Amino acid sequence: IVELTDVHKRFGSNHVLRGVSFAIPKGQVVAIIGKSGSGKSTALRCIDRLEVIDSGSIKVCGHAVHSPDVDLRKLRQDVGIVFQSYNLFPHLTVEQNITLAPKAVKGLAGAEAKAIAQRTLVQVGLADKAQAYPEQLSGGQQQRVAIARSLAMQPQVMLFDEVTSALDPQLTGEVLRVIEQLAQGGMTMVLVTHEMEFAARVADTIIYMHEGKVWETGPGDMLRNPQTAELRDFLSHGL
Ligand code: ATP
Ligand code: MG
Repeated sequence: IVELTDVHKRFGSNHVLRGVSFAIPKGQVVAIIGKSGSGKSTALRCIDRLEVIDSGSIKVCGHAVHSPDVDLRKLRQDVGIVFQSYNLFPHLTVEQNITLAPKAVKGLAGAEAKAIAQRTLVQVGLADKAQAYPEQLSGGQQQRVAIARSLAMQPQVMLFDEVTSALDPQLTGEVLRVIEQLAQGGMTMVLVTHEMEFAARVADTIIYMHEGKVWETGPGDMLRNPQTAELRDFLSHGL
């Protein structure tokens, strides 16, 4: 459902992605880990064409993402992306934040969009917050609304870029639980995360990126038995 083949990306003279290849079958969860600057966010952003690659190919749900002819509107309907900063509209209620895109992009009627909002709020454990404004919510709750907003577009794939790194430890847990439930529900996901235990538990595959390459890859338990000096070093020294 997601397939990167020999992807290269440069920012000026900075060769950030140096031949990245990986594939994610439907229903699988991939966690991307690695040092700051190793290219994790760039790889994720390329999947949604927020960055355009220099060479290689990216296929997502039948879209040739590397092609100049890709239908961005359709691609972005199939791919949901959630960032560290949740970027909710402060002057809109939770429900209005969630129904905005389904109405504008998919042309859903108000009642239909509201029903979807309610359903996604149940999924993230915030069924009672539909009429609240973002400032009335904790950071963890706001991040869960941001996830609900993405889910309301009924994407085929969800991308998460360090969605808990701005949160206190106790708020991190509630967001990770939502992601774990999505995984159990069969959502195809790519998680860029610094939460190693979470990655090991939830991901079907872990990708360790180092200097713009997939340095090591394997199932969750590869973190208990790293094969390369770089991954060993990363796991012992952290970020
Ligand atoms: P972190 O863990 O800090 O989020 P990362 O692995 O996500 O790091 P990236 O954000 O992908 O790393 O950045 C990889 C490299 O690309 C860095 O050297 C960064 O400075 C550079 N880079 C990323 N985005 C841009 C951009 N829009 N313009 C120029 N350089 C960029
Ligand atoms: Mg990043």
